Amino acid sequence: MDQWEDMAQILVEKYVAPQGIHDVRVLEAMKKIPRHLFIPEAYREYSYMDSPLPVGEEQTISQPFMAAKMTELLALKEGNKVLEVGTGSGYQAALLAEMGVKVTTIERIQHLAEKARKVFRRLSYPIESIIGDGREGYVPNAPYDRIIVTAGAPRMEDSWLIQLAEGGRIVVPLSTQEGVYCLLVRKKTRETVPVFEDTWYDYCRFVPLLSGVKKKDESFVKAERT
Ligand code: SAH
Repeated sequence: MDQWEDMAQILVEKYVAPQGIHDVRVLEAMKKIPRHLFIPEAYREYSYMDSPLPVGEEQTISQPFMAAKMTELLALKEGNKVLEVGTGSGYQAALLAEMGVKVTTIERIQHLAEKARKVFRRLSYPIESIIGDGREGYVPNAPYDRIIVTAGAPRMEDSWLIQLAEGGRIVVPLSTQEGVYCLLVRKKTRETVPVFEDTWYDYCRFVPLLSGVKKKDESFVKAERT
């Protein structure tokens, strides 16, 4: 796509920033990402609109504003170790990597994870992509300074809170009622016995966090737990 840099700049300056994103590091990183590479051919012309789009398997790439908002709420520090639950297209993971953090991203649909990996390779992002059930987090790379959940969660999983480093924070859209979520930031303090501090932000819409892993041959590997 020609001139995607110009379109990304317009997207950020005219649509994302005016909705209240103030962290210039997020805005600058977003301008550097060719969003069209994360979007299927059929919807590519809409890549630089501030809207969610289908990416196959009934999943969506988040609206750029929402990706920016969640990233801003993470309050990233250079070199942080970050876990993303819900790779989807890979765009959010790319945004995190572009901001200089070390990203592990986990996706339950093999087909989507493999497509995202190709884009990560093409853009040389050193992102670790895992196929698995993100409700369990990903123990081998824990603890994480930050965790971002990009699917609507019915509840806060203990595994996330356990794998979160002391002084870390998790951003998650938590279910308030059917199909409606509210963005929660939970901080884990550094005290001897860590406590959690919650702050609630905007209402939002997300595809749901589901259980189990979906392999390419459509077989469904049932999760051990429900
Ligand atoms: N961050 C993505 C958008 C995520 S859409 C992007 O930038 O494009 C939510 C994704 O979460 C979907 O791809 C969905 O398959 C995935 N998902 C849902 N439940 C999951 C789970 N338990 N573990 C891992 N991924 C999950």
